[in-house]
Amino acid sequence: MLDKLRIVLIGTSHPGNIGGTARAMHNMGLADLALVAPRCEVYGSESHARASGADALVSNAKVYATLEEAVGDCTFVVGASARVRHLPWPMLTPRALGERLPGECAPEAAQAALVFGREDSGMTNGELQRCHAHVHIPTNPDFSSLNLAAAVQVLAYECRLAALGADDAPDTPFGVEWDNPPASHEDLERFFAHLERTLTEIDFHDPENPRQLMARLRRLFMRSHIDSMEMNILRGILGAVNKQSRALARQESHDGNG
Ligand code: SAH
Repeated sequence: MLDKLRIVLIGTSHPGNIGGTARAMHNMGLADLALVAPRCEVYGSESHARASGADALVSNAKVYATLEEAVGDCTFVVGASARVRHLPWPMLTPRALGERLPGECAPEAAQAALVFGREDSGMTNGELQRCHAHVHIPTNPDFSSLNLAAAVQVLAYECRLAALGADDAPDTPFGVEWDNPPASHEDLERFFAHLERTLTEIDFHDPENPRQLMARLRRLFMRSHIDSMEMNILRGILGAVNKQSRALARQESHDGNG
């Protein structure tokens, strides 16, 4: 299970935090480190010094330009958040996150990611809305933000505890053998783009005045944990809607011309 858990750091600005994260991960038996648009030197002496023995994780860390690329293959994405955000999102405690993981990681194609934000500004709303759930470490409300590598340490520890006790956990996300593999993050993003295009086409959605429509639809679909068959059905429905609305538009312009 721990081999299916990726740690993703977005926009890190201190190399010491990359080294500290590598060390925390290696201590807890995690190895897959991904960095999204880091704002500091990654493979230099400062990160290696803080990694103290976990250097290989720093050397093997993969760098991506965007969060989408870093989690494209993921079937379960959780964002670590120091603050409560405007639009409430399914929230896990660190313990509940650990308990969910064995099931989430059980399907063969499963890949999970735990995403952490920038030292100065955390994660953007757009980034948080790409997650199935958020996790908050219950801290002093008057001083809630942990050092980045410390936050990684706490959550990695919970994941390790859960992995050690994983024998009695369900071996799929739904507590029963599932018939289809989960949809990947990449599939979900393609679906959301298709959904937005379609809702615009049928005049349900106005991109000039979006309100929070797409964020709310994202939350709905992320919460339901779509599998790949369901994803195909939804894409098929959107395709049929596109076809009908284009036929209607052609008909109207034809009638208008005649
Ligand atoms: N100043 C930022 C916090 C940056 S701390 C803000 O206000 O959002 C860097 C990252 O560590 C955060 O983005 C988050 O991923 C993680 N982190 C820090 N404290 C946390 C907490 N109490 N619970 C969960 N994650 C936390």
